[in-house]
Amino acid sequence: MIITLKKTAPEQEVNHLIHNLEDHGLTITRIVGQNYDVFGLVGDTASIDERSILANPIVYNVQRVAQPYKLANRMFHPEDTIVDVCGIPIGGKKIIMIAGPCAVEGEQAICSTAGKVLEAGADMLRGGAYKPRTSPYSFQGMGSAGIEALKKAKEQTGLPIVTELMSIDKLDEFVENVDVIQIGARNMQNFDLLKAVGRTNKPVLLKRGLANTIEEWIMAAEYIMSEGNPNVIFCERGIRTFEKYTRNTLDLAVIPIIKERTHLPIIIDPSHATGDWKLVEAQALAAIAAGADGLIIEVHEDPAHAWSDGAQSLKPDKYAQLIQKARAIASVVGRTL
Ligand code: PEP
Ligand code: MN
Repeated sequence: MIITLKKTAPEQEVNHLIHNLEDHGLTITRIVGQNYDVFGLVGDTASIDERSILANPIVYNVQRVAQPYKLANRMFHPEDTIVDVCGIPIGGKKIIMIAGPCAVEGEQAICSTAGKVLEAGADMLRGGAYKPRTSPYSFQGMGSAGIEALKKAKEQTGLPIVTELMSIDKLDEFVENVDVIQIGARNMQNFDLLKAVGRTNKPVLLKRGLANTIEEWIMAAEYIMSEGNPNVIFCERGIRTFEKYTRNTLDLAVIPIIKERTHLPIIIDPSHATGDWKLVEAQALAAIAAGADGLIIEVHEDPAHAWSDGAQSLKPDKYAQLIQKARAIASVVGRTL
């Protein structure tokens, strides 16, 4: 971290600032300039809040050199992290396909869809039992009965279960029954929830918030990791922009950025990113070309009557076609699927 001080700063206040920083275990080098004095801070500056330093009237500027995240940082962990989900590696050579309905709508329905996506080539089953809906009058999910239905589908197909946790009070139920805990976009900065899943060793699918920067997203992963759980998988699902033709705007640049900055796997959700089934395939293929480690896609056997997100859900035959094309792209970029 580099702090630039105004030349008018009284020496007593400068010393006070230096002592405060030294109390954080930092070593400080001072360069006396003609117009400004510059302080170079060496050590772990993660706990220093640059804005509170900037609030000091003697400070002209504060610049961070190191990233505020440590455990997620590629610099301290050069090799890729591979997250193991029931023996399936996420983040290795193979691209992982997760598919299923937005919401679990009953045991028979989820078991049938699980069979179809398995046949198409999916590796894992998705389906929300607890749903974060914009309106309190919309279907809120089947709750525990939905989790039981997912377990039945897993029993029949062998597909691991990916489902969203919205509240800490359901954590035990998830640890016992679920293979990947999804943290939804709306909860990306629910720090207590992040810490709670951090205290488990379950793989966590961490969706990007609706309006969060990449750094905020990585810091959310850092929250989970700082509690001891290294099994974090990023999931880009589009962000809010001024554009109305799509539900969200898919940010594919995050794939190389996340891979450069962190060692964690990243998958793409082209369903929530576009909100339109007709756009899903193109975004899915582009994501694989851009280096994604997997795709999570909503699949429904009767999208017109889906209880949520029907407009962005693919029918199983369309999903099977998408996998065929995705396989071709994967081989071009040196991956398998
Ligand atoms: C979902 O996966 O169905 C979902 C609600 O996703 P997001 O949190 O990305 O909106
Ligand atoms: Mn959905």
